[in-house]
Amino acid sequence: MYNGREEKAEKRIWLSSPTMHGDELKYMTEAFETNWMSTVGANINEVERLVAEKVGCRYAVALSCGTAALHLATRLAGERLYGSHPAHMGSLAGHKVFCSDLTFDATINPVAYEGGEAVFIDTEYDTWNMDPAALEKAFGIYPEVKLVVAAHLYGTPGKIDELRAVAKAHGALIVEDAAESFGATYKGQQTGRFGDFNAISFNGNKIITGSAGGMFLTDSQKDADKVRKWSTQSRENAPWYQHEEIGYNYRMSNVIAGVIRGQMPYLEEHIAQKKAIWERYRDGFAGLPVHMNPIDFENSCPNYWLSCMIIDENAMCPMERNDTESVFTPQHGKSCPTEILNALAAVNAEGRPIWKPMHMQPVYRKHDFVTRDGLRRGNRENDPAGKTERITDVGRDIFHRGLCLPSDNKMTAEEQDKVIAVVRDCFA
Ligand SMILES: *Cc1c(COP(=O)(O)O)cnc(C)c1O
Repeated sequence: MYNGREEKAEKRIWLSSPTMHGDELKYMTEAFETNWMSTVGANINEVERLVAEKVGCRYAVALSCGTAALHLATRLAGERLYGSHPAHMGSLAGHKVFCSDLTFDATINPVAYEGGEAVFIDTEYDTWNMDPAALEKAFGIYPEVKLVVAAHLYGTPGKIDELRAVAKAHGALIVEDAAESFGATYKGQQTGRFGDFNAISFNGNKIITGSAGGMFLTDSQKDADKVRKWSTQSRENAPWYQHEEIGYNYRMSNVIAGVIRGQMPYLEEHIAQKKAIWERYRDGFAGLPVHMNPIDFENSCPNYWLSCMIIDENAMCPMERNDTESVFTPQHGKSCPTEILNALAAVNAEGRPIWKPMHMQPVYRKHDFVTRDGLRRGNRENDPAGKTERITDVGRDIFHRGLCLPSDNKMTAEEQDKVIAVVRDCFA
């Protein structure tokens, strides 16, 4: 502690920061001392084995990040459905893909990398994930679609059986984005094994981290081999650099794998800490006109990665957002995400708005969006803020009324009490 500024930085309550335990350094040092400082080595082999064992799938392929895993999963899906292009013009070129709407854009971007066109599917209120009824509606409108990309938001599994049933009925494959939900289960099975192609992430803010990293998960040896090959520039088995396909430099580093190897024994401990945080918020907010992010307790055990809250409609003070700013009008007994986030920032606590839905993003605004009521065509250039459709879709509503709370597993009970008090004050 050298000055006031650092002291303040030290006391910051984070949204979700890395939590190291010690063995990470041991395995990184092992990589250093044995000079396995590349994308080959014991740490990579071991984390692939540990993750496959944990998830209950046959193969885990370690990659540089979750986005890389999703990209290769998406390309595999495209080639399975539409065949491969020797020059790789994009395996989904000219094809629509049904995608989660309320998610981080890394879920969706790989569809664009592969030349596909994302059509966004609205969200349900029970788990804040893709709405099976909206998905069914979408197949009614675009029966030719053969691929669904679905994420589990904030570590809470979506309605997996229902989504799988709809996809199956229409002969579509699923890419499962379990980047935020590693360690969560649905009907007793780990997420990351429900799709035809599955991805997880070890990004710095996830439930466990390698500082970066991701994995492709599968039961198919053929798919695992293909992803491993693509991730190392598609090198063929030959004495020289021989290439028959376009590849990528997506393999995980053995140093990063050392960090993940050290983190793996603490996955369940992190989940227990995050669960305690979610429950403490739920109890602390008793009597306020708010709810925690919903959980389908009957079917799933989330990993509680982020605790979120949503304000009851009648307790919202007026709040407006354009593409870069938000303003609100304080009202007695009412509040809004912007007021709460400002109040948290004032005590050096990090909250965050709910992920802004993809159909509201400038980059994807021209894409079609399907709710359980039907199709809303893209191309909304004359309405950049989407004003005409305010709170007529579920994703927009959750974005409008919800927010992510500080969910760091190193947050003390006293610090969390402070966060709870700040939120309570906003409704005074
Ligand atoms: C973090 C995240 C990703 C991407 O993972 P990276 O390892 O950061 O590339 C993908 N999808 C979702 C939903 C995420 O939260």
